[in-house]
This record gives sequence, structure tokens and C-alpha cells, in this order.
Amino acid sequence: MSDRYVAQRRLLIERLQERGINDLEVLRAFDLVARHEFLPEAVRHRAYEDAPVPIGFAQTASQPSLQALYMQILQLSANDKVLEVGTGSGFQTAVLAQLVDRVYSIERIRELGVRARETLERLRISNVAILIGDGTIGWSRYAPYDAILVAAGGPEIPEPLVAQLGMGGRMLIPVGGLDAQRLMLVKRTEAGMQYEEVLDCTFVPLLGRFGWDDQRTSSP
Ligand code: SAM
Repeated sequence: MSDRYVAQRRLLIERLQERGINDLEVLRAFDLVARHEFLPEAVRHRAYEDAPVPIGFAQTASQPSLQALYMQILQLSANDKVLEVGTGSGFQTAVLAQLVDRVYSIERIRELGVRARETLERLRISNVAILIGDGTIGWSRYAPYDAILVAAGGPEIPEPLVAQLGMGGRMLIPVGGLDAQRLMLVKRTEAGMQYEEVLDCTFVPLLGRFGWDDQRTSSP
């Protein structure tokens, strides 16, 4: 990696710390993954800004500090099996792969899913699997999951994702309208499901059977 990117990445790590990320494992994982490798050539110079960056198909690679906050809140462990809905560029998939045992990631836009898979293979990140499909129905084959990260905002919490959360499992998902959502933390405990509001956020729409329909005008 060029010196320019190394220096920029150091600054991003400092920025994450300024924004309240103090989990050393999460900071280390961000330090290990070269975000510019996941971005289209035209926006690579913006790779280490703490900002969402366009990746084509009207989608974005999410803001790094928000992704780091997801990982910090979810208290991920090295043995965890994680489901990610919304692979996008594959950058978050790669960071997760540094923190947990296996990452299963679903992307509905074929071109993005294929590009992310190619990037992950090129970087020899091998503890991930990518499915092209509707993430609102989850990936039952590998359930239950210790954690689920949803990187797009839906009108409600998809029931199949709740069902695929293992005992002690945690899920973060933005829920609300098309323009603004509330990030919800969902936990499966011995005493039942727990739901907690975390913060206001704005994500691209979660489209699919248990998300917004493709016209983006109504829930199912
Ligand atoms: N975390 C990604 C990254 O680091 O690049 C960014 C994800 S982007 C904010 C959200 C992604 O969710 C988009 O690529 C979009 O196509 C995808 N998406 C939306 N609805 C989906 C669904 N039902 N299943 C799978 N992916 C979906």
C-alpha cells in the first residue's frame, strides 16, 4: 500500500477514536483493511474520509465510524458466526472477517456482490461467503447467527432475521421511513426478545420481501 494511503488510514483510525470507538479489536480490524481496495477508481481518493462514498447502482459504502459503532455495540467474539445484510463494496465484510470466525453476507445487486466477492478473494480473505439474493429472508442454511448486521433501512424488523438469531444473539438494524430511521438493537435472551433504540440514522432502503418494495413506495 502506498505511503499516502497508510498515512490517511492512520488519520481515519484517530477519527474513529475521536468519535467514541474505543474497542481495540475493532480499531485493529479497521487498521488491517485497505478501504480503497473496495471502492471504484473514481472515488478511491475519498477512501479514508469518515463519510459514505458512492459505489455505483445508487448505493454507498457506509460511513466507517457508523460501521465501527455497529461492531463495538455488537461485542463480537473470535468464535462468532455473523450474518451481514447488504454487502455493498465488501469493505465491512472484510473488517468483520478480522473479528469473527465466519461472515455470511447477502447482497441483492448482483454486480456489487460479484465485485465484492472478487475483491475479497484478491485480498485472500477466505472466511466469508457472499450470497446474491434478498437478505430480508436471511440465510437459513447457516443459522443461527451470533450477530446480524443490517446495512440498509427497512419499514420493520424482518421476522426471518429475528428467527435466525441464536440464543444470546444480537442484531442491529435501521428501522423507519425511507429518509430517516432509528437504529434498533435486537437481542435474543433466555427471558425473550429485547428491543432497544440506539440512535437516529439514514441508510439506503432495505428492499425485498420483508423490506420496502422495489417501487420504494410501500411496505409489503
Ligand atoms: N456495508 C457496505 C459497505 O461497506 O460497502 C455498504 C452497504 S450499502 C449502505 C447497503 C447495501 O444493501 C446496498 O448495496 C444495497 O444494494 C443492499 N441491500 C438493500 N436491500 C437488500 C436486501 N434485501 N438484501 C441484500 N442487500 C440489500
